[in-house]
Amino acid sequence: MASNPDETRTTALMSGDAYRESLRRYSPRVFVDGRAVESVADAPEFRPGVNALAVTYDFALDADKAPLMTAQQTLTGRTVNRMLHINESGGDLLNKLEAVRLLCQETGCAQRYLAHDALNAIHQVCAHIDDARGGTEHRDRFLAYLEHAQAQDLSLGIAMTDAKGDRSRRPHQQGNADTYVHVVERNGKGIVISGTKAIVTGAPYMHEFLVMPCRNMGREDADFAVCCAVPVDADGITIVARPAGRPGEKAEHGEPLFSRRYGQSTAVVLFDRVFVPWERVFYAGEWEHSGLLTYNYATHHRHSCIGARAGFGDLLIGAGALMCEANGFDPGTKSNLREPMVELIKITEGFFACGVAASVYGTRDEHSDSFMPDPVFSNIGKLLLATQIYDMHRLAHEVSGGLIVALPGPDEDHNPATAATLSEVLRANPDVPYEKRIEVARFMEDLTASYQGGWYSVISLHGGGSPAAMKQEIWRNYPVGNKVELVERLLDRGVSAEQNRPITRNRQPGRCCAAGCSAPGQAVTVPLPKARR
Ligand SMILES: Cc1cc2nc3c(=O)[nH]c(=O)nc-3n(C[C@H](O)[C@H](O)[C@H](O)COP(=O)(O)OP(=O)(O)OC[C@H]3O[C@@H](n4cnc5c(N)ncnc54)[C@H](O)[C@@H]3O)c2cc1C
Repeated sequence: MASNPDETRTTALMSGDAYRESLRRYSPRVFVDGRAVESVADAPEFRPGVNALAVTYDFALDADKAPLMTAQQTLTGRTVNRMLHINESGGDLLNKLEAVRLLCQETGCAQRYLAHDALNAIHQVCAHIDDARGGTEHRDRFLAYLEHAQAQDLSLGIAMTDAKGDRSRRPHQQGNADTYVHVVERNGKGIVISGTKAIVTGAPYMHEFLVMPCRNMGREDADFAVCCAVPVDADGITIVARPAGRPGEKAEHGEPLFSRRYGQSTAVVLFDRVFVPWERVFYAGEWEHSGLLTYNYATHHRHSCIGARAGFGDLLIGAGALMCEANGFDPGTKSNLREPMVELIKITEGFFACGVAASVYGTRDEHSDSFMPDPVFSNIGKLLLATQIYDMHRLAHEVSGGLIVALPGPDEDHNPATAATLSEVLRANPDVPYEKRIEVARFMEDLTASYQGGWYSVISLHGGGSPAAMKQEIWRNYPVGNKVELVERLLDRGVSAEQNRPITRNRQPGRCCAAGCSAPGQAVTVPLPKARR
C-alpha cells in the first residue's frame, strides 16, 4: 500500500482500445437475447456500451481534458481516472460533476461514474465501522482494494439493486431468499454468496462488480448485509443482459445513429454460491451499517446523475436549436420557439445548479476524511431531473415538429425512385441541405422518441432511486427546525420550552463555518475543456 504523499506515481491509465482489449482477459458467463455470448469484446450487442466506456478512458489521456478527467489521489499517491477517485475536497466534487457532464455530452450516458459513487460510499462506511469498533481492519482492506482498482484502471459494475421480491416484505421475510444477495457460508478463507441483483449497468463489459446492499437492514437481515468485490467471471456468476443502445438499428446518411454508437446495457446478475476471499469482503453481517452505505452511495450517485442528465440536456438543447435552423427559423427572433428553448435551458441548468450547490456545500466526512456532496441539494437536483425529463422531451418535440417520427426510414435514402424527390420537397431552410436536416431529425427521434428515448426517461426517473426515495431524503435532511425557530422568533413566541418537538430537531447541515469546509485559497475547479465551455 503506497501512502507516501511525496511519491507521485502515475497509474498506467488505459486507452479506450486497451480497455477493449482488457475485456479479453475475462471470460464471464453472459447471455443476451437468449443466446450465450462467447466474447464480450466482439459482441455487436454490447459494442455501443463498450464504446461509451472507452470514451472514459480516452478522455483521461486527452491533454485538454486530463485536468478534469483525472485526479491526484493522496491516499494511494496515484494519478487516477476521476471515475475511480476518492474526493478530497469540495473542488473534487465540482470537478467530478463537470467530468460526468462532459462524458455524457459525448456518449449519452458514460456509466463509469457509478464506480466513483460506490468507492466513495464504501470508503466512508469502512472508516465508520473501524471507528465504531476500534482498529483499522476495514480501512486497510478497502485501501488495498482501491489501490488494486486504481492501478489496473478498472471498470466496476455496481451490483446494488436486489431483485427484492415482494416489496412489502423485508429480505429475511421473502419466500425465496435468492431475491436478495446474501451470505450462505463463511469459512476461514472467505464467504460464499447467492442471490440476484436485478439491474446492473454495463455488467457484461465491466471487469469487477462491487456488491452492496440496497436498503436498510434489521438484525434478522444480517445475512443480507454484505458488501464485497468480485471479478465478473467468478465461478457461479451468470449475467443475463439486454443489448446496449440500439445496435440493430439501420445506418443512415453520414454518421451512424447515435445509439448504435453509444448505449448502455443493463443486466440481471445471478450469484450461485460465489466464493469471495476475505480480502475482498468489506463487510458481511454488519446490518447496522447498511443504511449508512445506501445513504452515502445514494447521495454521491444522485449528485453524479445530475451531471449525467445535464450532459443529455446539452444534446437536446443543441439538437433543438439545429432543428429550428433546419426548419428555417432563428429562435432569437421567433418567441414561440425561443420560449421552449429557454425552458429547456432553464430545466437543464436549474438542476445542474443544484449539483454545483451540493458540491460547494459538500462536507468532510470526519471518519474517512473524504468529501460528500450536500444531501439536500443532491436529492433536489436528482428529483428535478427525474420528473422534468418528460418536459425536456416535450420541449424538444415542440421545437422540432412531427417530422422526427414521420420521416421515411433510412433505406428510402437510397431508393432511386424516391430519394431525389424527397430531398427536394423535404428541404426547408435553403441553407441547410436535406441530408443535414434529416440527420438532426433522426438524432432527435433517437434521443427522445425511440426505444432509446423511453430508456432515457426511465433511467432519469428511477436510476439512483425512485422519486419517493429522494423526497424522503430531502425531508430527513432539510433543516425545517431552523425555519420553525425563525418564524417563532419573529412571532416572539419563544422556542426554548418546545425544543423537543420532532420538527425542530432538524438543523441545517453543512454550513458549519463562515469559510466553509474547503481551506481558504484552495482551487475549486480546474479549467473546463473547450467542449464544455
Ligand atoms: C437504466 C437503469 C440503470 C440502473 N443501473 C443500476 C446499477 O448499475 N446498479 C444498481 O444497483 N441499480 C441500478 N438501477 C436500479 C435503480 O436504482 C432502481 O431502478 C431504483 O432504485 C428503483 O428500484 P426498482 O426499479 O426495483 O423499483 P421498485 O422498488 O419496484 O419501485 C417501484 C415503485 O414502487 C415504490 N416502492 C417500492 N418499494 C416500496 C415500499 N416498500 N413502500 C412503498 N413504495 C414502494 C417505489 O417508490 C416506486 O415508485 C438502474 C435502473 C435503471 C432504470
